[in-house]
Amino acid sequence: MSAGTLARELFLETFGEPPQGVWSSPGRLNLIGEHTDYNDGFALPFAIPQRTAVAVSPRSDGRLVLVSAQRQGVVDFAASALTRGSVEGWAAYPLGVLWAIREVRGEHLFAEGLSLAIASDVPTGAGLSSSAALECATALALNDLGHLRLNRHQLAAAGRRAENEMVGAPTGILDQLASLLSPSDAALLLDCRGGEATPVPLGFAAAGLAVLVADSGVHHNLADGGYAQRRAQCEVAAQVLGVASLRDANLALLEEHRERLGPLLFRRARHVVTENARVLDTVRLVREGEAREIGGLISASHASLRDDFEVSVPELDAIVEAANGAGALGARMVGGGFGGSALALVPRGLLPEVGAAIAGTFAARGVPAPPVVEVVPSAPGHRDS
Ligand code: ADP
Ligand code: MG
Repeated sequence: MSAGTLARELFLETFGEPPQGVWSSPGRLNLIGEHTDYNDGFALPFAIPQRTAVAVSPRSDGRLVLVSAQRQGVVDFAASALTRGSVEGWAAYPLGVLWAIREVRGEHLFAEGLSLAIASDVPTGAGLSSSAALECATALALNDLGHLRLNRHQLAAAGRRAENEMVGAPTGILDQLASLLSPSDAALLLDCRGGEATPVPLGFAAAGLAVLVADSGVHHNLADGGYAQRRAQCEVAAQVLGVASLRDANLALLEEHRERLGPLLFRRARHVVTENARVLDTVRLVREGEAREIGGLISASHASLRDDFEVSVPELDAIVEAANGAGALGARMVGGGFGGSALALVPRGLLPEVGAAIAGTFAARGVPAPPVVEVVPSAPGHRDS
């Protein structure tokens, strides 16, 4: 059953009447371009088939009442009490979006309250951006119900602001733009400096390639220190280099300032500089019809995230090694790191071997292997019903 149907049923069960509408938005897989978004850089995500749906109706009692099929209990919040940082737990994502939209469009929005029922098949904390899927589905719902006529860039910005200022996770704009702007059958080249988004057909099917995703089962919380610390290190490195952001740096500039940066900031900055180049090289290769050649860039991205940016974990390294050993053209961790998922680019004929090799890394750890799933570019956020 689709997330949209589940959200509708949960709404009916909880609130005793059908919702006024149902909206959904997808998780995303970032093919390449990790930890580049908050450095004004490039990324190449696509929307995945897994989605989060929100069934919504206005209320008249001034309450914001939320339920999620993935969480216990009911959240009940006064619509007039919504201020920055006032909501804790999972409801901070959807209510943060309402708060962020109010910051732009006025305090009075939905002062009479809202009922929301959420359902999702995007795994949480797996690097597939369940957070943006939830934010973007909510933003689409509020935009339609409130007749706000905000465009998708503005809705993405509201989602990011919710995550940054209500949840307290200093993430970039990649996830929200991917969820709202991805074409149904292609990846999206994002220039995170201006938010420019260009469809890039990948040509994987024609090249006999598939993308597998495996959840390591090691889960992170982006509000924890590691992500924020990396972000701060990038800002300091940019200051030392005298550039507005690491987007403007290059390897020659890094070499010039090697001493002043010190070994740690040098490596952090080198990841961002080389990762931006890998995104653009990937786009060039797929446009030239050389999709099979991008495997090396994907694996180089993993090595850089592991060695220079130090956000991988042994469980992800093991999946990547196993996939490559079984014939994947390239593999890497995806998402912010410290756990989450890994992807592998696999010739279709080798899917069973690569899947089995990945499963073997879990057997070696003595934990049950999660399903290794194939993902293809899928539809962006929309109204379901
Ligand atoms: P990711 O975006 O990689 O899945 P995050 O830590 O950024 O991981 O976001 C996961 C958090 O988003 C969850 O811990 C929860 O608070 C919230 N969330 C995501 N999906 C749902 C859902 N269906 N119901 C309730 N909360 C959700
Ligand atoms: Mg997230």
